[in-house]
Amino acid sequence: MNDQFDVVILGGGAAGLSAGTFAGRRGLKTLIITKEVGGQTASTLEIENYPGVGRIEGPVLMAIMKEQAIQFGCQLIYGDIGVISKSSDGFAVSVGEQQYVGTTLIAACGKRPRLLGLSDENKWLGKGIFYSSTDIPDGYANGKVVAVVGGGSAALEEAILHSRTAKKVYIIHRRGSFRAEDILVQQVKEISNIECIFHAESTAIGGDDSIESITYVQDSNSHTLSLDMICVKIGYDSDATLFQSLVQLDNQGRIPIDRNAHTTIEGLFAAGDITNVDFQQIVISSGDGAKAALSAFFYLMEKKGIKGTKADWGYLV
Ligand code: NDP
Repeated sequence: MNDQFDVVILGGGAAGLSAGTFAGRRGLKTLIITKEVGGQTASTLEIENYPGVGRIEGPVLMAIMKEQAIQFGCQLIYGDIGVISKSSDGFAVSVGEQQYVGTTLIAACGKRPRLLGLSDENKWLGKGIFYSSTDIPDGYANGKVVAVVGGGSAALEEAILHSRTAKKVYIIHRRGSFRAEDILVQQVKEISNIECIFHAESTAIGGDDSIESITYVQDSNSHTLSLDMICVKIGYDSDATLFQSLVQLDNQGRIPIDRNAHTTIEGLFAAGDITNVDFQQIVISSGDGAKAALSAFFYLMEKKGIKGTKADWGYLV
């Protein structure tokens, strides 16, 4: 692999893969570097609001997006992104011993699931605590008592999903109302084996070889709930710290972009949940990924002295 690219895209979720498709299709030599394909979307079992595909499993949608990017010549390597630095040729990105250089860089690394913050939380990994729906083995929730912690759309979707096979699903939420979409709140109210526990702060997990209980504090009283499985769905933390030596992050640790996915740094573009765009939806990340790739394309053309119209159906000189 020649290590100098027109565009290096960091992240293989909806934003990164979509950027890969649009950059590749414009004939740019494009590389996606990612730990895994799919990002948050790949950890969502059912998606029903990505236009044009009806109801689809997250990993399936992302496999299609990956194939589409590759079809347009985009290269893809898996690895942990190390240091990112500005170089005379653009941006250098290290992955292990290897270094890749992009004349332009698209930051699309998304976010990682937030942990509950309990001191022994890691100990329960593999024993019944899950942060991503797709990590749950098929049939795992069947007949079980499940607690979903969180009060956003992801938590409610997770609870609805498990209510179909689990014996009972508790939603443990720290506030008195959900911040999820109304359609999901309504569905939760109508499902008889879902019980919502509000104003509850999770404080401990109990069990031995596998999880057996969760303890929460509600109105200063401690309660312990017997269960078999815990799904933590309390949002995501940004991976934008990777970029903080290059660009000033906003007060929520995100990369500020303009409406065409430019950052304040020449040649650096960003898309998806790593940015300050408020609506975190797959379709929006995909759209912003496309914008980032097109902006990178026009930036490269202008660098070559080619002036053109930013027309949608090709590059008109
Ligand atoms: P959100 O940030 O929307 O919600 C996180 C929830 O977890 C909040 O209720 C928050 O509580 C709670 N929380 C945060 N930190 C803690 C903590 N330390 N302990 C306990 N509870 C905590 O995250 P989601 O993952 O649900 O959604 C992320 C984005 O993705 C949103 O923009 C959402 O709209 C979108 N999404 C859309 C879907 C769809 O369209 N179908 C499906 C899933 C997600 P509090 O309310 O008190 O802040």
